[in-house]
Amino acid sequence: MRHDPRRGTHNLPNAQLIGQTRPPGPIHLIVLAVVNLTSVPQSTGFPDDRSGRRAAWYSLAALLRAAAGSLLQVQPNEIASGIHGTGTGSSKARTFAFLSDTLDNGAGYCTHLADRGVFDQLMTTTSRMLAEFADGAHGRDCRGSCYQCLRDYTNMAYHSLLDWRLAGELLSILRATDDTSNQHGRQSAELLRDWASNIPPGDVEFWDDLGGTGPAVLFEERVWVAAKGPFEAADAAMSSPRISIVRDAVAANTRGVCDMVFVDDFLLDKAPARVSAMLADFDGA
Ligand SMILES: [Zn+2]
Repeated sequence: MRHDPRRGTHNLPNAQLIGQTRPPGPIHLIVLAVVNLTSVPQSTGFPDDRSGRRAAWYSLAALLRAAAGSLLQVQPNEIASGIHGTGTGSSKARTFAFLSDTLDNGAGYCTHLADRGVFDQLMTTTSRMLAEFADGAHGRDCRGSCYQCLRDYTNMAYHSLLDWRLAGELLSILRATDDTSNQHGRQSAELLRDWASNIPPGDVEFWDDLGGTGPAVLFEERVWVAAKGPFEAADAAMSSPRISIVRDAVAANTRGVCDMVFVDDFLLDKAPARVSAMLADFDGA
């Protein structure tokens, strides 16, 4: 395929890729976010779970495919989507969402979509669809995905991973637009409380607000636990401003417990028992 610096070059035949690239023009926003699928432990050594980011990439691919279907007026089975570059080695490994024609020789849909002008229309269509998903009853009731948004009968294998909000969040990071809402934080707080309420009361202490930074849980009187979004960096080399503020609050607290770990709210939602198992295995920094 022809080299396009906006998308990088890859060896996937008949596919167009959309990856961690910068949009044209100056960047005004410094995004301390992790978007690839490498797993870099947190600064305390607590493992980084990448399942939320993986779900986000599959969701973004499904969103782009739905937008392409809407833009080109074709059936979902005429375009395939997926992710590429699940790299585990280097922390700089890149991840891509791709679209490809399903026919061997291709109908040319994806080559057409790679045209700069058409690609801009595709981005406009994804933004319109995300706004529609966020609206009214669907925005209120659809927690991950349904047949009104990202699901169809051809992507059944990924239904449990698909989440339109994660797709939108990832897309806004990749495009360096700042339109994330406070919804995310409220949902994290509820998930953390639900998880803590299923652990014997003697083992956890729920704090509504840890030094002005929001809810946290003191687990077995040995480690603080707070929720984070799948893209929030919490490793030794890179830490989002919010994560640093929470760490400062822990350092200033009077309980004498200094270890702090961040658990992914995607994991709190989908696999809370795994969060408990990860904490049981964690010996501290
Ligand atoms: Zn839905």
